[in-house]
Amino acid sequence: MDFNLTEMSTSKSTGSERVKMLIIGSGPAGLSAALYAARANLDPVLLTGMELGGQVSLTHIVENYPGFPEGIGGSELVELFQKQAERFGAKVEFDTATEVDLSQRPIRVVTYNTEYLTDALIISTGATPRHLGVNGEIELTGRGVSYCATCDGWFFKEKEVVVVGGGDSALEEALFLTRYVDSVTIIHRRDELRAGAILQKRAASNPKIKFVWDTILTDILGEEAVTGVALKNVKTGEDSELTTDGVFIFIGHLPNNDLFQDQLKMDELGYLVVDEYMQTNVPGVYAAGEIADPTFRQVITSAGMGAAASMQAIHFIEALEDELPEVEALAYPILKT
Ligand code: NAP
Repeated sequence: MDFNLTEMSTSKSTGSERVKMLIIGSGPAGLSAALYAARANLDPVLLTGMELGGQVSLTHIVENYPGFPEGIGGSELVELFQKQAERFGAKVEFDTATEVDLSQRPIRVVTYNTEYLTDALIISTGATPRHLGVNGEIELTGRGVSYCATCDGWFFKEKEVVVVGGGDSALEEALFLTRYVDSVTIIHRRDELRAGAILQKRAASNPKIKFVWDTILTDILGEEAVTGVALKNVKTGEDSELTTDGVFIFIGHLPNNDLFQDQLKMDELGYLVVDEYMQTNVPGVYAAGEIADPTFRQVITSAGMGAAASMQAIHFIEALEDELPEVEALAYPILKT
């Protein structure tokens, strides 16, 4: 692989924009990476994807990001991240990558609007909510089925809803829904929650929340809108139905890895595999945030990964500028520290 820098140009005369660092994804990881690269005068370009800010921008309030003792709205936090990165020269483009070629140097990224050639690439494409895969789920999405309480809770004022899942998201979103709805029934496939102790305590003491244990949802019922759910108790095998106006599904996420199939190493769940320097198996390509983190998935850990990936990418670009051979370019971050 040839790592020599080709002539830098930001003109579109060749149909390509030449950059040193391109970042795909605009969640906390991508925006933090952009901030660090901008402060290193690398003029990074960040592609937002379809939604600026990713999942956190759909979060009503973030209470565990340090520096905001009263909490801060998810989209407000993302706006601050963006403003800070742009203040130092990051270019935030409302554009989406459609094709990536990691086998060529510079790396080629095709978007809806243009094509980029970049020396280093940071992937922070995040993850999207996992679906249950039951009858009625797709047909009734937007008509009672939802994956975002912050977005849709308001439509269920004084109604009765179910929440599926037993993790932090399910409980947090169920608690949020109690602002609007008359009752939330949390349906969980086991008799023990995965969620943290504080959320468990809050949910257990909320009079609007009740639990149905050891139960899976087998069908979502309704023609024009959700009218109920079909349930199965996994211990007794008993089938039942429950009348409800809405079904909120929070059963984990799937990493957004489509662009990188057959190009980057992934684990069995599809998360990109990175080393402690956020380096993927392709030199100059880094991954940060939920696309590479099935475990922590917090705003602060994603932001930290983004900063780390950016620092390594900066070292990598410096090594290229110093015309170090490939092996030394890869070792450069370690040599420098
Ligand atoms: P999660 O922790 O993976 O929990 C997913 C839940 O859905 C689990 O209870 C799981 O059941 C259930 N589930 C999975 N597949 C299912 C299926 N096909 N049918 C029925 N139930 C199914 O996902 P998450 O709640 O989205 O959280 C993801 C990460 O973000 C976690 O690390 C979490 O701590 C973090 N998070 C933190 C906060 C916070 O700190 N405030 C808020 C939200 C998320 P089992 O338990 O039986 O596996």
